[in-house]
Amino acid sequence: MAIQWFPGHMNKAKKAIADRIKSIDMVIEMLDARLPASSENPLLAQLSRGKPKLKILNKQDLADPERTALWLNEFNSREHTQALALDASEANATTKITRACRQMMPQRGGLDKPLRVLICGIPNVGKSTLINGMIGKKSAKTGNEPGITKAEQRLFLADDFWLYDTPGMLWPKIIVEQGGYNLAASGAVGRNALDEEEVALVLLDYLRRHYLPLLQERYQPDRDPSSHWDDVAWLEWVAQKRGALLGGGRVNYQKAAEAVLGDFRGGHIGRITLETPNQWAGWLKTARQK
Ligand code: GDP
Repeated sequence: MAIQWFPGHMNKAKKAIADRIKSIDMVIEMLDARLPASSENPLLAQLSRGKPKLKILNKQDLADPERTALWLNEFNSREHTQALALDASEANATTKITRACRQMMPQRGGLDKPLRVLICGIPNVGKSTLINGMIGKKSAKTGNEPGITKAEQRLFLADDFWLYDTPGMLWPKIIVEQGGYNLAASGAVGRNALDEEEVALVLLDYLRRHYLPLLQERYQPDRDPSSHWDDVAWLEWVAQKRGALLGGGRVNYQKAAEAVLGDFRGGHIGRITLETPNQWAGWLKTARQK
């Protein structure tokens, strides 16, 4: 799928992160719990090599709990990596995160050795929600440092716990095609940069294979053989249900696609995760063979 990226912005962000990483102790990478691998950034892994990483699987309230457990295992088995699942707006998010960071870096702490943490994440992953929650709670001071991009802020979560927000977006190069679709389905990609109909069809195809009961529950098909429907049949049924029709009863595919994507993003179809560690490994293998 053609997603339009903006290499100029990306290079700027890459440079800013590369500069910042030299003076930080560890990295928090926020991931979308519904697509933990697709929302991960291989470039960040490269830039932050050797630094401990805390992976936050955010939006866990929208994700499939069984699959979240699989992903937590997967990340926790990696070197220098810990993972936790969160809902960015939950009351004790800040405590969970600061505690995990301090455990990972016990050698840092105290005024002479503050723990310096960089937080990264793709757009829409919930970084602002999380940071706003942290600031609100601790009424943290924010400040721009001279010489750093204006957008980068340092938040003092405690006198000896400094959190740096990354400026700009660091987009992964899409290697796994399904990963591009999953990012698009999650809402991480701007509307103008993708074909919503195509994204909705790929999403419906995945859901009918892996979450058929949820799909049936949400859209209440009037015929039982809905278990045999393909992605197009599902989209056409959603169009019927939602009145996404043009003159003469023709299907308005665009409107139906928007309905499906809106339902998925809002969690109205149910708690869904679009990839498992095994599936991801398989897709990656296929992509590399191409
Ligand atoms: P940012 O682009 O990473 O700063 O993302 P935002 O903080 O602006 O969040 C994007 C959208 O996701 C907003 O509508 C948030 O309300 C929503 N959001 C963020 N975190 C969560 C979460 O843990 N669960 C749910 N359900 N929604 C979330």
